[in-house]
Amino acid sequence: MTKDWNLSAAPESTSHIQLQSEYGLFIGGKWIKPSDGSYFDTSNPATEKRIASIALAGKKDVDAAFKAADHAFDGWSSLSGAERGKYIFRIARIIQEKSREFAVIESMDGGKPIRESRDIDIPLAAAHFFYYAGWADKLDYVFPGRKMRPLGVAAQIIPWNFPLLMAAWKIAPALACGNTVVLKPAETTSLTALKLAEVIDEAGLPPGVVNIITGDGATGALMTAHPTPKKLAFTGSTEVGKQIYKAAIQGGKKVTLELGGKAANIIFDDAPIDAAVEGIINGIYFNQGHVCCAGSRLFVQETVYDEVLAKLKRRMDSLIVGDPMDKNTDIGAINSKAQLKTIERYLKLGSEEGAEIYQPACNLPEKGYWCKPTLFTNVAQSNRIAQEEIFGPVLAIQTFRTIEEVIEKANNTPYGLSAGVWTDKGSKIFQLTKELKAGVVWANTYNKFDPTSPFGGFKESGFGREGGIHGLEAYLSFD
Ligand code: ADP
Repeated sequence: MTKDWNLSAAPESTSHIQLQSEYGLFIGGKWIKPSDGSYFDTSNPATEKRIASIALAGKKDVDAAFKAADHAFDGWSSLSGAERGKYIFRIARIIQEKSREFAVIESMDGGKPIRESRDIDIPLAAAHFFYYAGWADKLDYVFPGRKMRPLGVAAQIIPWNFPLLMAAWKIAPALACGNTVVLKPAETTSLTALKLAEVIDEAGLPPGVVNIITGDGATGALMTAHPTPKKLAFTGSTEVGKQIYKAAIQGGKKVTLELGGKAANIIFDDAPIDAAVEGIINGIYFNQGHVCCAGSRLFVQETVYDEVLAKLKRRMDSLIVGDPMDKNTDIGAINSKAQLKTIERYLKLGSEEGAEIYQPACNLPEKGYWCKPTLFTNVAQSNRIAQEEIFGPVLAIQTFRTIEEVIEKANNTPYGLSAGVWTDKGSKIFQLTKELKAGVVWANTYNKFDPTSPFGGFKESGFGREGGIHGLEAYLSFD
C-alpha cells in the first residue's frame, strides 16, 4: 500500500503540520487559558495516542466569550456587506492555502479517511465561506423589499462527524448576515475548529466577531442557557437537540436544529444496478457511517434483490478498513471508544432480533477503534436496527414489491432528514420526491453536498435549513 500521507509512525509529530501540545480558548481575538485551569485530552482514534490538551471552558469563560461577541456586534453589523464579504473571502482563501494541513489534522483527530478529508470536507468548508462571502453584499437582492437585521450573537454547537465543515456551515452565513458568534466544537474533534480560529486571526477579523471555545456537553449547556445569544444553532443528536429546543423556548431565542436520521435508500428494479451498488456503499460507509443523512436503511425491489445483495457483498469484500492516513483507505477509525461501544451494542442487538449479519473477512489494526462494514438481512420493519440511528457502518436491508409499499415503509420512522432513489424513470423520482418525508432526496446519487443547496430535516431530524439562501434566513430577522 502507498503511504504518502502516512503519519502513523509519529501522528503527534509537528514536522508536517503545526500543532501545539496545549490549546487555549479563542476569545476576543486572543488565546486565553481556561479560568479554572481545566483541560482534557484529544486523541487519535486510529492509534489511541494523545494529540493535544484542549481547554475545558467553564462558566466564566462562556461569559467572557459572549461578552466579546456582544461587544463586537455593533461594529461588525454596521460594516457594509461588501466589507464583511472581504473578510469572509479571506477566510475561504486561507483555508484553501492550508487545505493539506487541515485534511491531515481532521483525519488524525477524527479518524476519517484522508481521501475524504482532502477531497470532500476541506474543499467544501472553503466553498461554504466563498459562497456566503458572495452573498454578504447582496442580501437586498436575496430578500427584495424586505427590511432585515442581523439577530445579534449566535451560539453554535457542532458535532464530531464533519468538524471543520460544520463550523463552516455555521459561521459563514452568520457572519455574512452581520452576526457575531461563539462556536463550540465537539469534545473529540476540537482541533480543526482551533486551526480555524488561527485562520480567522490571520484573516484579521475584528476581535470578538468569532470566538471559539472548547469543552463538553456541560459547556454546551452553559452556552444555550446564556442570556446573550439571540440564536442557537445546533447539529448533533436528537436527544441533545430536544434540550436545546427547550433552552431556546425558555430564553426566547431563534433556533435551528439539524439532528439525527435513518434514511431510506431505495433501489427499483429498473435502476442501473452497478451504479446503485456504488451509491449504497457511499451512502452507508462514507465517513464510517458517522453521517446524519447516511443511507442506513436499504430498500430493494424484490425482483433484483439477489443480484443487488450478491454485488453488494462483493463490493464490501473489496473495501479497505484501516489507517485513515492511507489514501487507499475506504473506512477509517470509529471516532471514539464510546461510539464504537454504541455500534457494537447494535450489532449484538440485530442478531438478537433475528436479523442475519454479514461482514467481510478483513484484518483490523490492533490499536484503535474499528468496525468492519456490516449489513443485516432478514430485517423486520419493527427491528430497532431498522428504526434507530446507529451512526456507524451498519446497513439494514429490506425488500419491497410496489412503490406504495416502499413509500409507506420509508416514511415509517421518527426521522425525516434524507433519502435516496435509484430508478431509470423520471416519473418515479418525481413521485418519491413529493411523497417521501425527507428534507433532501437524492436521485441516482447519494451524499452529494453543495453550499448552494439547503439541507435540513422534518420530524425528529430537526428544523430550519442550512446552505443556500435558506441558510441566510436563519440568521436574519425581518420586520
Ligand atoms: P453525539 O451523541 O453524537 O456525541 P451530541 O449531540 O451529544 O452528539 O453532541 C453534539 C454536540 O453537542 C457536542 O459539541 C457536544 O459537546 C454538545 N452537547 C452535548 N450535550 C449538550 C447539552 N446538554 N447542551 C448543549 N450542548 C451539548
